[in-house]
Amino acid sequence: MLPAKINNGKSPIFTPNFFKPIAMTFCIAPSLLSADFARLGEEVKNVIAAGSDWIHFDVMDNHYVPNLTFGPMICSALKPHAKTAAGVAVPIDVHLMVQPVDALASAFADAGADLISFHPDATSHVHRSIQVIKSKGCKAGLAFNPGQPLDVLDWVIEDIDLIVIMSVNPGFGGQSFIDSALRKIEDVRRRITASGKNIRLEVDGGVKVDNIRQIADAGADTFVAGSAIFGKPDYKAVVDAMRASLAA
Ligand SMILES: [Zn+2]
Repeated sequence: MLPAKINNGKSPIFTPNFFKPIAMTFCIAPSLLSADFARLGEEVKNVIAAGSDWIHFDVMDNHYVPNLTFGPMICSALKPHAKTAAGVAVPIDVHLMVQPVDALASAFADAGADLISFHPDATSHVHRSIQVIKSKGCKAGLAFNPGQPLDVLDWVIEDIDLIVIMSVNPGFGGQSFIDSALRKIEDVRRRITASGKNIRLEVDGGVKVDNIRQIADAGADTFVAGSAIFGKPDYKAVVDAMRASLAA
């Protein structure tokens, strides 16, 4: 079998060490929701050059959330751009804010997604949707809105690779961080530790240079940032400032 066929052709860094990057515990995942849509490929390249670990891809369907963004064809078009200057693939982290889930999740897997997260209340069969994603060779994640309980994790935490805590209500970029998310992050961190599994804890919404450390202290290890990065002229300065804050 050719190496390219392993993992359904997913990125070569999609290995057992995927969740333990050498010399780096934290992941910064810029959200393209706040990028310039008229030049998305260039934005992906620039934000990777600035030191991003993942590319976060917010998919909205004007049904589960009151907004509409982009679909699998855009993901597919951006996939060749999701690599470093040295040619190392950068994971595409697809966050589905869509209902229903399974067909689009499958389409995004075919379009080059490396991780696919969905909201448990957007599917009738959470476990089945997870299996759809994993059967395509992708990592699977569950995303929780600010007002949603974590109960479903009691039954599926063994099956997932990523938990996304929404610290704003999904649908739009540029919102402020909702503080109750910190308690929820602490709760999720306890559950991950108890599971003994290597599960990423991602926070999505209102993450900035001046609150990223507090969010990390609550237990998060992966940070989606949209307007905080794309709203500034120098992406690298923001990513560097976030890493400095995390290292302090
Ligand atoms: Zn997101």
